[in-house]
Amino acid sequence: MTNSIAVIGGGASGLTAAIAAAKSGKYSVTVYEGGERLGRKILATGNGRCNMTNINADTRFYHGKDPKFILGAKHKFWVDETIDFFEELGVVVNVEEDGKVYPYSNQASAVLDVLRFKIDDTENIKIVLPFEVKTVEKRGERFLITSFDGREETADKVIVATGGKAAPAFGSKGVGHDILKSFGHEITALKPSLVQIKTETDVVKKLKGIKLDANVTLGSASEYGEVLFTEYGLSGPAVFSLSSRLDGAKTISLDIMSRYDRDELSKKLILRIAKRPKITLDNFFVGMFHKRVGQAVLKCAGVEPLSRYAVTLSEKEIARVCNIIKKWDFRVTGTMSWNNAQVTKGGAVTSEFNPNTMESKKVKNLYAVGEVLDIDGDCGGYNLQWAWSSGYLAGADAGK
Ligand SMILES: Cc1cc2nc3c(=O)[nH]c(=O)nc-3n(C[C@H](O)[C@H](O)[C@H](O)COP(=O)(O)OP(=O)(O)OC[C@H]3O[C@@H](n4cnc5c(N)ncnc54)[C@H](O)[C@@H]3O)c2cc1C
Repeated sequence: MTNSIAVIGGGASGLTAAIAAAKSGKYSVTVYEGGERLGRKILATGNGRCNMTNINADTRFYHGKDPKFILGAKHKFWVDETIDFFEELGVVVNVEEDGKVYPYSNQASAVLDVLRFKIDDTENIKIVLPFEVKTVEKRGERFLITSFDGREETADKVIVATGGKAAPAFGSKGVGHDILKSFGHEITALKPSLVQIKTETDVVKKLKGIKLDANVTLGSASEYGEVLFTEYGLSGPAVFSLSSRLDGAKTISLDIMSRYDRDELSKKLILRIAKRPKITLDNFFVGMFHKRVGQAVLKCAGVEPLSRYAVTLSEKEIARVCNIIKKWDFRVTGTMSWNNAQVTKGGAVTSEFNPNTMESKKVKNLYAVGEVLDIDGDCGGYNLQWAWSSGYLAGADAGK
């Protein structure tokens, strides 16, 4: 066995790629991992439970210049194959609400452990760490791989599985983009995704720490769920999840009474006034919203002073209050940083890779997988699915 495959990065996509590459037994496979341990990000996924995949995964849940790029993987190694792959390694899975799949033990560490056990059991896979790759260059038919501390290795084939720039504490700092750029690959603009959204702060700052359930709308996408007001903007699962669809949207809107339509809400407020005409406006919403949220709604509707009695609310003021409750707009000013993001939006342009094998169309025997490519998914197991699938395809092709 003289031929060699180098996998750069020992995360979700790299470990799957290594296992698939070693299967034929024709190659010796080496994983070069920059950190002290393999798969650190896997351990942090799904709040430590690892939302491994989602049984509904299809192009609707992916973004990038060409989300259809995932179809190659969808036809060859997708959700069912991934579940079979992990079941084969010993992970029993559980499907939860919205099709989210978790290991039955609810431990992300179990997912990493079974990958490690498989690698330990596979003679033709070697792990080298810490080995943070700085450059990959072509030397004749082979590749020369150089680490930041000057060590050199060679390989016949290279799979770039370095991740993107999100959550750099787990090792993904964007070096993979530089490596691919050095081979002439185009990298699209990179932005944090699955991240908290920054808004104008005058209102949210005062509500810092308060949570409510709302229907959140960003551009053409909406999601119902928990929203958390923060010093810098909005957070919570619904906001986090919608951040993957930010796409230049200028406003994020909350419907904080989505179970009622506008007419029902208006009637409810009129009845509320009739029942408690002498309650002051600063307490008017107590029992319906958090007191401070109620006060902020009134202020945003231009109703002041809050020392007035509820009965003094005019028809126009009630209409404005209903408008705010049903569509409370916050001007978007950006997102939190890479440190807070779960995923990278953007990456290596996918039209320059074969969707069935992940091999570069520019450089033979060079592959890119996972988050380093211009594919990002919604929250719900879609990103790991992409990492497992693209990793598997590349490994299987390189190792055949
Ligand atoms: C907190 C958190 C929770 C998440 N939860 C979920 C979830 O529940 N479900 C889901 O689907 N997705 C989740 N994600 C997203 C998902 O983890 C990633 O999309 C996925 O791990 C990407 O896989 P990858 O192999 O491309 O990159 P990574 O998992 O980032 O792995 C890249 C590896 O390459 C190594 N590396 C980087 N550069 C070099 C270099 N130059 N030389 C050598 N090694 C290098 C890194 O150290 C790392 O080990 C979460 C992300 C975060 C941050």
